[in-house]
Amino acid sequence: MNLPFDPSAPNFKNAIRAIPGYPPNDDVPIQAMVFESDAYAHLPALLTQIGAAREHPLIVVADELPIRRAGVELKPLLIHFLQANGWNPELVVLTPQHGEPLHTDWFQVQRVQQQLTRGAAVVAVGSGTVTDVSKHACFLYELEYGAHIPFVVMPTANSVSAYTSNTASVEVGGVKKTLPSRYLDVLVCDVETLASAPRTASVAGIGDILVAFGSFADWFLAARVGHDKNYSDLPRTLIGPLDEIFLHEAVELRDGTPHGTALLAKLLALEGLAQSLAHTSAPFSGFEHTISHLLDLLIKQNKQPPILHGTQVVLLTILTTLAYQEFMDAFVPARVNLDACFPSRAEMQARIEKTFSALDPSGALANEFWNEYQKKLDTWHAQRATFETFLREWDSIRAELQSIVRPPQELVAILQRMGSPTHFEQLQPPLPEDEIRFAFENASFFRSRFTLGDLFIFLNWDMDRLWARIWEASRALAHLPA
Ligand SMILES: [Zn+2]
Repeated sequence: MNLPFDPSAPNFKNAIRAIPGYPPNDDVPIQAMVFESDAYAHLPALLTQIGAAREHPLIVVADELPIRRAGVELKPLLIHFLQANGWNPELVVLTPQHGEPLHTDWFQVQRVQQQLTRGAAVVAVGSGTVTDVSKHACFLYELEYGAHIPFVVMPTANSVSAYTSNTASVEVGGVKKTLPSRYLDVLVCDVETLASAPRTASVAGIGDILVAFGSFADWFLAARVGHDKNYSDLPRTLIGPLDEIFLHEAVELRDGTPHGTALLAKLLALEGLAQSLAHTSAPFSGFEHTISHLLDLLIKQNKQPPILHGTQVVLLTILTTLAYQEFMDAFVPARVNLDACFPSRAEMQARIEKTFSALDPSGALANEFWNEYQKKLDTWHAQRATFETFLREWDSIRAELQSIVRPPQELVAILQRMGSPTHFEQLQPPLPEDEIRFAFENASFFRSRFTLGDLFIFLNWDMDRLWARIWEASRALAHLPA
């Protein structure tokens, strides 16, 4: 199935400029995106095209992990290939610090930045971390010296959308922050390399795309209650009809065929661009990610085996899209007691303290959550008139929501075609219901981003009843015995 906006098409950049909602002042400086068999063979021509020169160093950044491409070690293959074509590749291997897994942090970024000189070019060969470290090193060098570093990314896994985004996720003081950074100049998606990555990588990539079944709606909702001014239909239009694409291509994606591999790489490229052009990760990170973050915390605290992020967010998206169906069916603005929708700061702080006291008796966690939450609560109060408009215009808002939220039934059908789990109870070991319910009912208290979960709280929705209904519905969709 053809994508409405294929990132490898020669007119791609002009085509997306015409999408309604495209920010007129945003230029995407990416020169080329290649998704092909043996795509690495284009590196010499592409490097020349973006202003790299053979007489200058070519910094190749990678991590320590061996990567096999169709049975052959990728990194030596690339180095030899570049040398044979007259380039001077210098391999910079990122090694983890203090026995921890490799992170994007200042240490790694500076390590790459120190290798950069005027005229040098960079090729990042790896996944999200290698890309973000290299990207941000180039960005900081350019800020300091005002000289552009030609920058190529050759992903080794279809796992993240970071490759084409103009932000970097950097750990600052132990906390992950999304920092403004730069775009790459060229994306080289070598199908053999991507197809050689472990299946868990593409499960992650697919999961973080499929969340859009619910997350686009959360972003829309946040805009309609006055919490996000950046909303546009651009990400939805840009990435195309995901339900149709995935229903049609599920088997190719599952089997990692050359076609399926290239398609997934394109969708991830579009996702990265969509987030960059939207100036927020919100289109692909809604209620499901909020729940997922709290669930991660519970799983860690209970010393349970972690669930693959991609699997976890997809299974949560089934629940959030069911919650949307429930909300769209049952919400009656006329029954809303408006004053009861605006709890005081003291009330909510106390509620957060009570909710999380079992998780952390010291109260530190609740305090941290409150710091994030109060921003959202303050905006909610300040936007009361916007919410009143929301209530008046509910009929038209609901109609729009219905076209944005994709049905959970379709999501389950896609996952079934891909041979993926469709319910938490199918995981080994299964995740207990009470843990997921706690995360579902309380996750909105610890993130400043507004989603459907917040609306339930402010509307004083009966959460236990809601949970019982969607949990039962999710079990029925997965054909689990009653
Ligand atoms: Zn995610």
